[in-house]
Amino acid sequence: MSALLSTHGLVARYGDFQALYGIDTEVGEGEAVALIGANGAGKSTFLRAIMGLLPVDPDMVRIDGQPMGGTPTDRMVQKGVAIVPEGRRLFRGMTVEDNLRVAIDRAEHLGRSGGWSLERLHKLFPILRDKARTPVQSLSGGQQQMVSIGRALLCQPRILLCDEISLGLAPKVIREIYAALPEIRAQGTAVIVVEQDVGLAQSASDRLYCMLEGRVTLSGRSDAVTRDQIGEAYFGAGHAVV
Ligand code: ATP
Repeated sequence: MSALLSTHGLVARYGDFQALYGIDTEVGEGEAVALIGANGAGKSTFLRAIMGLLPVDPDMVRIDGQPMGGTPTDRMVQKGVAIVPEGRRLFRGMTVEDNLRVAIDRAEHLGRSGGWSLERLHKLFPILRDKARTPVQSLSGGQQQMVSIGRALLCQPRILLCDEISLGLAPKVIREIYAALPEIRAQGTAVIVVEQDVGLAQSASDRLYCMLEGRVTLSGRSDAVTRDQIGEAYFGAGHAVV
């Protein structure tokens, strides 16, 4: 059976600069996969390449085994891939609810339906109901992240790509946000989390990939990879394990 999402020798460039050097990965239906690696390892580039935001060959990204590399982002959303982007990218000046309604309209326009509704989202993150009429720029960072996750979920994804959703947030808020992942997976949604906090990444995932300078240097079950293996894969051979 084909993986839900897979990449095959995925290569990506920014002009003359090569950021990814042949990335092979796969994510199964409902699986949680973490992608770890230092700053600049290529994690965000990997997500962008999947979302059709960078030119890549069709065969390099597959959904259900079908070549989808380089497909425009809306078509990827239509196929069930949604991203919580780095920096959240909310629509400033619009309320929480209006930000979320943009996603509802988009999903409808793209013909995607599924189990996520405003009501269900309010159960996941009750603060989004309380702040429904608040402009997003007045929210705390954690609340904004919840809107960003909510917006992606309302696109009814089969797989949710999360780019550093813990960045800049207080530990309590990070726990609150990560506590939502099991509920999201319970809907059958697969998740890729890009995460700098290795412990968090391990506890939130079934499997992980570690990247270093545009290459996968380690992959395995999250509960089976050792600290030494991660240290070497994260920093390269010869570096001290932290
Ligand atoms: P971070 O945690 O800092 O976001 P990352 O692992 O997500 O790191 P990427 O953002 O994917 O890394 O960057 C991978 C490489 O590509 C880096 O060397 C980065 O400088 C380069 N890069 C990223 N975006 C661009 C761009 N728009 N133009 C040119 N180079 C870029």
